[in-house]
Amino acid sequence: MHKKMKTKMGSYSTKGNLTINTLLKHLPNKLIEYVILHEMTHSQERKHNERFWKIISKKIKEHQKREKDLLVYWFLVQTLTLSN
Ligand SMILES: [Zn+2]
Repeated sequence: MHKKMKTKMGSYSTKGNLTINTLLKHLPNKLIEYVILHEMTHSQERKHNERFWKIISKKIKEHQKREKDLLVYWFLVQTLTLSN
């Protein structure tokens, strides 16, 4: 997910393994849950297309806000943990 970012938050392999970056533990539970949902949804749809967001929005209506919050938190977490 989110290729623009330096570090991956997580991934979902074709074998069905969900990998979550340990840095995510610094994020609010709400956002951790969102990352898990996002990655799990990739098991149904690999691309970030219309179908993908449709599946997500069935579970979380305010997914756009979550994505935004996530970017802010992820940037901060990386900045704070990589600075020293
Ligand atoms: Zn993704």
